[in-house]
Amino acid sequence: MDYFFTEEQQMIKDLAAQIASEKVVPVRAELDEKSEFPREIMNVLGQSDLMGLYIPEEYGGAGMGSLELVIAIEELSKACVGVSTSFAANALGTYPILIGGTEDQKKEYLPDIASGKKLVAFGLTEANAGSDAGGVQTTAKLDGDEYVLNGTKQWITNGGEADVYTIIAITDKEKGARGASAFIVEKGTPGFTFGKKEDKMGIRASVTCELVFDNCRIPKENIIGKEGMGFIVAMKTLDKSRPGVGAQGVGVAQGAIDEAIKFARERIQFGKPVISFQAVQHMLADMATATEAARALIYAVCRFIDSGAKDVSKVSAMSKLFATDVGMRVTTDALQVMGGSGYMKEYPVEKMMRDAKILQIYEGTNQIQRNVIGQALIKEAAKGSK
Ligand SMILES: Cc1cc2nc3c(=O)[nH]c(=O)nc-3n(C[C@H](O)[C@H](O)[C@H](O)COP(=O)(O)OP(=O)(O)OC[C@H]3O[C@@H](n4cnc5c(N)ncnc54)[C@H](O)[C@@H]3O)c2cc1C
Repeated sequence: MDYFFTEEQQMIKDLAAQIASEKVVPVRAELDEKSEFPREIMNVLGQSDLMGLYIPEEYGGAGMGSLELVIAIEELSKACVGVSTSFAANALGTYPILIGGTEDQKKEYLPDIASGKKLVAFGLTEANAGSDAGGVQTTAKLDGDEYVLNGTKQWITNGGEADVYTIIAITDKEKGARGASAFIVEKGTPGFTFGKKEDKMGIRASVTCELVFDNCRIPKENIIGKEGMGFIVAMKTLDKSRPGVGAQGVGVAQGAIDEAIKFARERIQFGKPVISFQAVQHMLADMATATEAARALIYAVCRFIDSGAKDVSKVSAMSKLFATDVGMRVTTDALQVMGGSGYMKEYPVEKMMRDAKILQIYEGTNQIQRNVIGQALIKEAAKGSK
């Protein structure tokens, strides 16, 4: 379907698609097998100016928005969600600086992020703070001109590979989530090391690792915004980034549909290509319809966010919830269309199905998205009845 992209948006789509087919498809199985970070591909994405799509021009970016970012994420996800996760996590880590950073912080960090010279990671989750993000226990104590960080972040995408980390830590224990603050921590800071690297089911081309802070001292200027704003910055960050996770769902679903159709046209059973059986056609019809609906929702939500709309939590959660459930269902059905062949590593769909699962979990599980939507509906109803 034609979504009436501008010339620039179409160029971004074509460029990301070209990188996906030329640089990602040939190595995706190997990256998956070896669980290897796609450093060369990240360099290419940086050189192609795709890393700074959503960063304002005055800080070296392209000055575009969420829509352009999801267009690139969707194309990369058709080829490999591990690669698109490594790419998208940069935006996740950068949004806190864009949302709450000072002019000096923006000038210092954003140009190198936009050019791809520096990679970024976002550290919120801990062993005791998953869905309950307000339960963060990592502390940041002001000591003279420095904050001293102590604690461990768990399952951080781009951990160890990134140069810049935006970290949520507690500055006032008494205040709970309102006592959380956001900080910028650079790789190489004494007291900041990397712990366990996870061995995952899918998105194995992305790295997921522990961040360990042991009396890690950072300049007090590295706080993002003010003390107590950390939770708000984190939630606003997720509002911005969740449609990107949805776009990963759309991309992987489309990639799987393309593979299933190719296979079903070639596979002969009962003297005919299996695509000639109406049961198979109906599966493909449902898969394509759901994927198109998810795509339309993602683009509409991004256009809404890019319009400057203030309260986007509900629609952002809806786009992530719907499109990632579609991603899981469609990759599962694509494998079914391919029968036993779909289950084999010889074809990319088994990897797509493994990769799709994480999209229903990270950046807030889909149960948590339903909670966000439910809470927003209650608020709206209360407002309406006043
Ligand atoms: C590969 C990977 C990469 C990640 N990358 C990052 C990253 O870069 N940065 C970062 O900060 N975090 C990251 N995460 C963490 C991720 O965001 C969390 O895993 C996710 O938010 C869920 O938390 P949890 O896994 O602790 O699940 P839990 O909170 O333990 O939830 C367990 C189950 O209970 C359900 N549940 C919990 N509370 C509720 C509730 N109130 N209502 C309904 N159901 C509920 C959940 O939906 C889930 O089904 C990553 C995780 C993974 C696996």
